[in-house]
Amino acid sequence: MNNVKRAIYPGTFDPITLGHVDIIERAAFLFDEVVVTVARNIGKQPLFSVEERMDMIRESVRHLPGVQVDNFDGLIVDYAKKTGARAMIRGLRAMSDFEYEFQMALVNRTLYPDMVQVFLMPHEAYTHLNSTVVREVATFQGDVSPFVSAYVVKKLKEKLEK
Ligand code: ADP
Repeated sequence: MNNVKRAIYPGTFDPITLGHVDIIERAAFLFDEVVVTVARNIGKQPLFSVEERMDMIRESVRHLPGVQVDNFDGLIVDYAKKTGARAMIRGLRAMSDFEYEFQMALVNRTLYPDMVQVFLMPHEAYTHLNSTVVREVATFQGDVSPFVSAYVVKKLKEKLEK
């Protein structure tokens, strides 16, 4: 085994927001490699396809050399085992995230005790932000430029004008 410190950052990213980017920047500071991995199997129908979500992530993390983009299906612990990842990043915005993340963390730890889960807080400018709010504002032609990268602004416009 080599000494490269690699972490995975799983999520829906429908689409990636500046809050996600903030977490990725903090993770990139801690780890040599960060793999942002898009969940294929989410309950509700996403606005963007997996490929579109991966493309927007790639464009939003261009400035971070150690960051890669991938996708997964099924349990995140199985993806972690398959790829040899021993650390997983999650973002914590407010207390409202805590209960869900706490439950998932304990389930993941039971399933894969060798994986360390790391929780990072974004800058307070992003603690109110999630992808759902961004999609809602964009649907009604609101300005989402304070919340997502210029590339994602463009992709949202293209998608919602169709
Ligand atoms: P959401 O909860 O917005 O649907 P994801 O499933 O894409 O988002 O989230 C992946 C991870 O990123 C989760 O750990 C989530 O808490 C975190 N995250 C989402 N939005 C933000 C944000 N604005 N700031 C910090 N972390 C965030």
